[in-house]
Amino acid sequence: MNVDVIVIGAGPTGLALAAELGLAGLSTLVVEQMAERSGQSKALGLQPRTAELLELRDLFAPLMERAIERIPGGHFAGMRLDLKALDTRHPYMIGIPQGRVEALLEARVTELGIKIMRGHELTELSQHASGVTARAGELHIHADYLVGCDGGRSTVRRLLGVDFPGLEGRLAMVVADITLSSAAPSAWELPVMTPSPTGRSYLAPLGDGVHRLLFYGPEQQELPRDAPITPEEVSRALAAEFGPTVKLSGIRWASRFTDASRQVEQYRHGRVFLAGDAAHIHSPMGGQGLNLGVQDAFNLGWKLAVRLRHGGDDELLDTYHRERHPVAARVLANTRAQSVLLEPKEEHLALRGIVAELLRVPAANQVIAGMLAGTDIRYPLPGPGHPLLGMRLADAPVMADGRGLLMTGAGQDMLVKAAAPWSGRIRHLQRGQGEAMFLRPDGHVAWAGSDPAALVTALTMWAGHA
Ligand SMILES: Cc1cc2nc3c(=O)[nH]c(=O)nc-3n(C[C@H](O)[C@H](O)[C@H](O)COP(=O)(O)OP(=O)(O)OC[C@H]3O[C@@H](n4cnc5c(N)ncnc54)[C@H](O)[C@@H]3O)c2cc1C
Repeated sequence: MNVDVIVIGAGPTGLALAAELGLAGLSTLVVEQMAERSGQSKALGLQPRTAELLELRDLFAPLMERAIERIPGGHFAGMRLDLKALDTRHPYMIGIPQGRVEALLEARVTELGIKIMRGHELTELSQHASGVTARAGELHIHADYLVGCDGGRSTVRRLLGVDFPGLEGRLAMVVADITLSSAAPSAWELPVMTPSPTGRSYLAPLGDGVHRLLFYGPEQQELPRDAPITPEEVSRALAAEFGPTVKLSGIRWASRFTDASRQVEQYRHGRVFLAGDAAHIHSPMGGQGLNLGVQDAFNLGWKLAVRLRHGGDDELLDTYHRERHPVAARVLANTRAQSVLLEPKEEHLALRGIVAELLRVPAANQVIAGMLAGTDIRYPLPGPGHPLLGMRLADAPVMADGRGLLMTGAGQDMLVKAAAPWSGRIRHLQRGQGEAMFLRPDGHVAWAGSDPAALVTALTMWAGHA
């Protein structure tokens, strides 16, 4: 079987990437080892930048139909962040189980006619000058490119022989979806809490009588990673936080996790790319992992399309690593810092007190909130130093066709013509007099100014030709 791109893994990263590739008209095959979706949801929260990206593709309204809650703030190590201060149309976290995000993306992928081959585990991978060959069960697939979106224990990474350097986990925690036989909090609140030497728990309603419980304490630090999670362990955690009135009746699923953090040194290995958890893992504190993976996909998808369909330079594909590696490195840093702030030792609590004070200063809140929300991401793009270069456009118009957009002011028709080979269909929007801007399909400004020659250079770089 021959396709343009093989995507390994139908988690949120793989599905978001497949949707982007499908939109660009590339033939794509998604290979997933599980016979069906597990229905389990690790992640529960989407950040403002992911909401913006989904809105760019007209997926925001259907996302909100599936969401449980708009949470008007975020948190940093359990300290409240005010997201209203951010320059975004979506200054809130969206409470939505990961499974529902995957279902939404899968519906888009299917609509675009892309096949997801479930029940096929990738076991072999080789690459050569003209392409990549992969074997998954009885499937033998040849493609121009392959993207490993196969999670933290990535087979693609292992088959490439790529290291996953970083830090071992220091803090062991449990996540469990449970039912209760007694009263429990019915409102969804942020996990705003102070660490305690006896442990802490966080409980949120997921609907249909199911609650999400996250907990950690001295017992979890002692237990081996593969120890079964028993009703007794869960009941002890519930009682320690909520007292005897909140009683467990059942466990739907439960899993141990740690704050281990690792990142590959290179996201690109010839014709093979790594994205999402396959490229970076970290503690779930602040709710960033799924968001990072979806954003990786929005960065890489259109670049593969430009390379394959519009004759873009191979160098364009290197910008995926250049732009996205530092973003995840920053998330690893902020989650490591959060882990330190979650330790209930006296000196850590002292540091936490100072950080909490700082976060009450609006400017400090804005820095940390923007970091977690992903709204402060600015790519280091080449070109004359316009203040907008590399920034996301907070009020970007919907680009549901996945193409770039030239936004011009009055009298800039010449620039519109210059951009024509990029999209074939250019929308002409009024901006400031005499200035124009070229928006990449991921909503980042690739060029802004009034010099047509500079625009031609930018289009050659990002659109393949001008
Ligand atoms: C307790 C917890 C809470 C979290 N909360 C949040 C949150 O609120 N917000 C947030 O943004 N993130 C959160 N995360 C992180 C988030 O769940 C992950 O970052 C996200 O699942 C990564 O998506 P992915 O698609 O990259 O990888 P995965 O979701 O791991 O998907 C990888 C897919 O690849 C498949 N696969 C693996 N190997 C193969 C193979 N050899 N062949 C074929 N298929 C294969 C797997 O079956 C799987 O379907 C949380 C994580 C945990 C543990």
